[in-house]
Order: sequence, then C-alpha cells, then structure tokens
Amino acid sequence: MANQKVASRGNSGGFTNTPSIIAQQRSTRADDKPFEVKAMKRSFHGVFSLVLILAAVVTALIYIFGVSMAWGLVYVGAIVLANPMALYAYCAKCACREFDCSHIFPGKLAGLLPPRAQGPYTGVDYLGTALSLIVLLGVPQFWIWRNKAVFIAYWIPILLGLVEIRFWVCRDCRNENCPMNGSRSGPAEPVRKV
Ligand code: SF4
Repeated sequence: MANQKVASRGNSGGFTNTPSIIAQQRSTRADDKPFEVKAMKRSFHGVFSLVLILAAVVTALIYIFGVSMAWGLVYVGAIVLANPMALYAYCAKCACREFDCSHIFPGKLAGLLPPRAQGPYTGVDYLGTALSLIVLLGVPQFWIWRNKAVFIAYWIPILLGLVEIRFWVCRDCRNENCPMNGSRSGPAEPVRKV
C-alpha cells in the first residue's frame, strides 16, 4: 500500500488516483462501502423509522378511541386523507420512488397514484407536504397532551424515527431535489486524496 501511495504522487507534490488504487481504498476503508451495502443499510433505517412512526400513530389511535369512538374515527379520517396528500405532493415527484425508495412502501404506494413528472418541488408541493404532516402529527395532540404517559409514548418513537431519517436515510438518499438530501453531489463517489 505504501508503494502505491508513492506511485500515486504527482510531480506537483499532490496526488493522483488511478482506478485500481481507488478500488483498493474503497475495499479497505470502513466508511467506503459499496453502493448495494449502503442501499441495504439505508432501507433498514428507512423501514425501521416507518415502524417507529407507525407505533406512535397506533398508540395515539388506541388512546383516542378509548376517549371517544367518534374522535377515533376523526383521526382515522385524518390519516386516510393526509397520507395520500403527502405521497402525491412529495413522493410522486421523487426520482427514487420506483426502485430506490429508502422507506420502500411510500415509493410503492406513490406509484399507485396518478403519475407526476419527476423533478424539482414547487411551493405547492411543499405546502401540500407540510399540511399533511401538520394534520398527521397535530391532530392527535388535541387528546394525547392530557395524558403524560401517552404523550411521551407518542413523541419518543416519533423523535427517534426523525433522527433515523435525518442521520441515516437522508445521508445517502438519491432524491437530489429534496432539501434534506445529504448527498447533493449525486451517487458518484468523490475521488479522495491518498
Ligand atoms: S425516497 Fe423519500 S421522497 Fe422518495 S419516494 Fe421514498 S419516501 Fe418518498
């Protein structure tokens, strides 16, 4: 490896990277995993974050139904309306949705909605997404804030799910139009200096 480092130095004292050396660096550095491994890891965190959020929603749903059957149905209605709105406003325009959705299910479900051209999001897309999130997260607060245990049982998985998404899903997501995207330079690996 030392010889390769020397061989890779250019005349200016900088470094050049040949494909074989880059390939060796990729196989020996812990953080330079092949794309398939990254995708599997991202999908694990993507699905796990959905499970956490689903657990919070079910917790709220059970509590609200316990308070009132009618309000429970109102929350079910909010979920039924808000999810397709987010899928249509955001996921339907995502370039990853068909084959590379980190959360797997939203991408598949978005494919069932009327097709939209994939590309940059507009203000209306952001508004639709924000409204659906406000409905999904805001509606249950009318009831659960009264019960400290349920409130905590709701928000802990939600926050853990958001941390999962922010730090493990967005980091390698290839939806370059998303402002949360962590790999704006695209899927290509940057060429590093030795
Ligand atoms: S990667 Fe994100 S924006 Fe794209 S389809 Fe999946 S959940 Fe939706």
